[in-house]
Amino acid sequence: MSLRVLLVEDERELRATLRAALDVEGYEVLAAASLADAQALAAQAERSGAGIDLVLLDLGLPDGDGSAFLDTLRRTSATPVVVISAREADGQKVRLLDGGADDYLVKPFSLAELFARMRVALRHRGTAVQPAVTAYRRDDVEIDIAAHVVRRGGTAVHLTPTEFRLLARLVRQAGQVVTHRRLLADVWGADATEQTHYLRLYMAQLRAKLEAEPADPRLLLTEPGVGYRIVDTEG
Ligand code: CA
Repeated sequence: MSLRVLLVEDERELRATLRAALDVEGYEVLAAASLADAQALAAQAERSGAGIDLVLLDLGLPDGDGSAFLDTLRRTSATPVVVISAREADGQKVRLLDGGADDYLVKPFSLAELFARMRVALRHRGTAVQPAVTAYRRDDVEIDIAAHVVRRGGTAVHLTPTEFRLLARLVRQAGQVVTHRRLLADVWGADATEQTHYLRLYMAQLRAKLEAEPADPRLLLTEPGVGYRIVDTEG
């Protein structure tokens, strides 16, 4: 059975392009051009019992902000949501990610990137009940969260407890951006959510230990103004 995607996008051409591309990839597509359309389609899908497997959500919609849809959805559903937004909407992106969106893509994006992000978001669906990523391997870096072991090129890498917690938090959502606020809350605690300098310091330390060229990271990526992402595991 094919997965159902709710595509919320008011730009007609982009909506048509995405719909056609998703169709070729084997997704079943419900397309909405406004907030009201999206809410009606989501309610209808829920009533019919068919449900929706993933939402692609534009932010700037003619009758409101995509965040209103996310808020409503998150009250009842853990359906993955990937935000597709214009670059100027940085503040909105952070709010949406903190509010339960799974990831975001900045327009214009490639279809290959879109499908990759969708696969990651679908893999993480239901992270509250399913085990998240606990073993990570990419290039010469291996991370085993349960065993508390990190290796690079086969050699054990020593991490401080805080460095390990930060790395483990990113690995848990490998391939997905994690916001500054979420990282700070999960690693340092709820009262540290403004201390973004902790993140700069500890990310620099992790890169020095895990990256071939710490100044040009390939593994631990910065999402400017939003957070950090560890690139997706090789599986
Ligand atoms: Ca729009």
